[in-house]
Amino acid sequence: TFTLGPKISDWDAQRRRWLAENPGFPSEVTAGLGGARSKARILLVTGSPPNPCDNAIGDHYLLKAIKNKIDYCRLHGIEIIYNMAHLDKELAGYWAKLPLLRRLMLSHPEVEWIWWMDSDALFTDMTFEIPLHRYADRNLVIHGYPDLVFEQHSWISLNTGSFLLRNCQWSLDLLDAWAPMGPKGPVREEVGRLLTAKLKGRPAFEADDQSALIYLLLSKQEQWFPKTFIENSYYLHGYWPGLVDRYEEMMDKYHPGLGDDRWPFVTHFVGCKPCGSYGDYPVERCLKSMERAFNFADNQVLHMYGFAHRALSTPKIRRFRNETASPLEVLAQEEARQMAFLQQ
Ligand code: UDP
Ligand code: MN
Repeated sequence: TFTLGPKISDWDAQRRRWLAENPGFPSEVTAGLGGARSKARILLVTGSPPNPCDNAIGDHYLLKAIKNKIDYCRLHGIEIIYNMAHLDKELAGYWAKLPLLRRLMLSHPEVEWIWWMDSDALFTDMTFEIPLHRYADRNLVIHGYPDLVFEQHSWISLNTGSFLLRNCQWSLDLLDAWAPMGPKGPVREEVGRLLTAKLKGRPAFEADDQSALIYLLLSKQEQWFPKTFIENSYYLHGYWPGLVDRYEEMMDKYHPGLGDDRWPFVTHFVGCKPCGSYGDYPVERCLKSMERAFNFADNQVLHMYGFAHRALSTPKIRRFRNETASPLEVLAQEEARQMAFLQQ
């Protein structure tokens, strides 16, 4: 049977020892907005296939998507990794994140949380921060709705496009239970049939990582649910069709830092495949919407420097603040503004 690697059963002890022996690499850091506070060390992981997109415009949007993540991570003191390799050829495609997450946990014992984010998900609230204090006794944080998982058995009750996994034995065990449903070929096909039979609304297709995780939670609830936090008080993942046409309205009424329906933390282009072949939505609509999401977020970055996009549809920018001979006064105002928006 398929495994991700040699079975590890004492990772918590191994990691604890390593942290004690390497005080120069603490699992807590002081970084980001409100700099003096100590926070768990987070590593954001994203990536895309090893080869060029079928369409050159797809590569341009992958570039915008990584710039967006670099901006967010720089502002909040989060480390970032971009992966383009298939570490395990049996787990290609959306399953590629599983061997990668395991590899990174074992190679970076200093990291407390690994945060997977799809290439087609953009940060659209550059101020909001994950409320980590809520997850002190949890090891998996994922966007979704418990009633859709446990009552409806819906295949879209959770979204694996953006989730956090604590670097611990429990997470290695979860990956060990999850990965055997993904090997390409007959296994993936067979498990796909099982998942379609068990999960409401799921079309017939090969096993995907999201359906497999929902199935694990449902079938072994007492094992996995107690350490899982199903989050929906803000958009750790936000489904794009309901969000991208409302950005102007949000800019009129609200401000960054809210993370929810008023100013979504993440906008995820589920069903858009500008890099590859078949998506569920017309490519033109996807690209226009991605451009809007990118510029909506980029405005929040440019604000600090006194610039803004002329409209959400265009890369062109305008200056909204005049140059001054006392730049540090403006900087202080900008910082005060950011801190006022930061909830917590
Ligand atoms: N991915 C990757 N390497 C691959 C294929 C996919 O790293 O060879 C990642 C990429 O970040 C992508 C994610 O897996 O965003 C999930 O796929 P996709 O976003 O297309 O699925 P959807 O969210 O639309 O269901
Ligand atoms: Mn995606």
